[in-house]
Amino acid sequence: MKKFKRILVANRGEIAIRVFRACRELGIRSVAIYSEEDQLSLFRTKADESYLIGKDKTPLDAYLDIDEIIALAKNKGVDAIHPGYGFLSENPEFARKCQEAGITFIGPHPNVMEKLGDKISSKIVAQEAKVPTIPGIEKPIHSDLEAKEFADKAGYPVMVKAAAGGGGRGMRIVRSEKDLLNEFHSARSEAKKAFGNDSMFIEKYLEKPKHIEVQILGDEHGNVVHLYERDCSIQRRHQKVVEFTPAFSLPEKVREDICADALKIANSIGYSNAGTVEFLVDKDLNHYFIEVNPRIQVEHTVTEMCTDIDIVQAQILIAMGYPLDSPEIGIKGQDSIEHKGFAIQCRVTTEDPLNNFAPDTGHINLYRSSSGFGVRLDGGNGFAGAIISPYYDSLLVKVITHGRTWKDTIAKSVRSLRELQIGGVKTNTGFLLNVLNTKEFSEGSCDTSFIEEHPELFE
Ligand code: ADP
Repeated sequence: MKKFKRILVANRGEIAIRVFRACRELGIRSVAIYSEEDQLSLFRTKADESYLIGKDKTPLDAYLDIDEIIALAKNKGVDAIHPGYGFLSENPEFARKCQEAGITFIGPHPNVMEKLGDKISSKIVAQEAKVPTIPGIEKPIHSDLEAKEFADKAGYPVMVKAAAGGGGRGMRIVRSEKDLLNEFHSARSEAKKAFGNDSMFIEKYLEKPKHIEVQILGDEHGNVVHLYERDCSIQRRHQKVVEFTPAFSLPEKVREDICADALKIANSIGYSNAGTVEFLVDKDLNHYFIEVNPRIQVEHTVTEMCTDIDIVQAQILIAMGYPLDSPEIGIKGQDSIEHKGFAIQCRVTTEDPLNNFAPDTGHINLYRSSSGFGVRLDGGNGFAGAIISPYYDSLLVKVITHGRTWKDTIAKSVRSLRELQIGGVKTNTGFLLNVLNTKEFSEGSCDTSFIEEHPELFE
């Protein structure tokens, strides 16, 4: 077993703080990096040490410079790097270069990341593991004709998607032949700009599916378990807004099958560390694999609340070589994992729902947190006096609640969002409350088109 003394977090904001907390609990020193734009951000003060990176770089590029980050880590005697989510977290070259520098990358192995990082190759992995995928063409489309032939045969609507896509970018729904080529080309140029990769594929568009995903945890000794599913159907522009567990509106058998399929995929490629296997579920309750995210996810929190497993601590322990059934991780086989109660996560962002969710910036002049039984706030940069800059993700704080019943968990979320008082910048809390107060949410029945079909939520 390795013993890490220092872990560098190659990230910022709430997820950096989440990892620093786990480090401290495990008795490991935490090292932050921050860009010039983040000099006044709270997250860096939560680490034991912090270092400026990316001088003369753009605010985003500062967190993307592999060589600079690894050189700094070596210079500071860092044993391991946690990539968080976003930025370099799904970059196999980063993982490989960490290894070459003698630094442990806290995540799956680079060759596994490579296979899963691309949506085309991960669909092939799923098919080889005998897990259903959405009908489509599992190879990069090079000509307009190929796209047209598939759409003609499969029937509209179809979805054109970037193999390297993420954050809902690089994908377009195409409802008729006349829009196909325009949408295809526009998604491709968006993908090229956002991901530096314009490899595109095409598949059937499922009408009003649910997005159900499974948390996976594997150790370095070949043991893999799932920590049950999350329902992430409440999305805006294909990005998650509210997540919860369990996905209780689905029959138990469907949930079990989805979790079993997630395990099949993970086992088939020798998955280690934390990951998420994502599925769409159609109206007839058929489920289809869509992608694997080989990293920690924003919504890991709801799974932690219901399983009592600290996923970030587990990531670090796994990277040190601890088996899942070690006393430190404490997972004595799949059957030992219990899912208790319900948990909801609301993503509070500095966005203005009345202005098409435009990110708001400026000084926070009032910040009153909520708290109390069943409430967990995972935040980053929110406090009275904080400056919200336009450079990064607008996630301000995640409001997570855990309750014994669904009704009580919603009540805790509503109470907690009302208690949270933020002044000086606009936030989406009113919008989140509108979502929580709908009949559909109380039934757990929302699908991925719920927000789009309910413009009254924006008021
Ligand atoms: P990203 O990596 O950008 O998050 P995903 O492939 O995970 O993209 O898809 C994000 C969301 O887009 C899904 O949760 C779903 O709402 C929608 N989506 C993706 N593929 C399809 C599809 N074939 N049919 C219907 N909706 C889809």
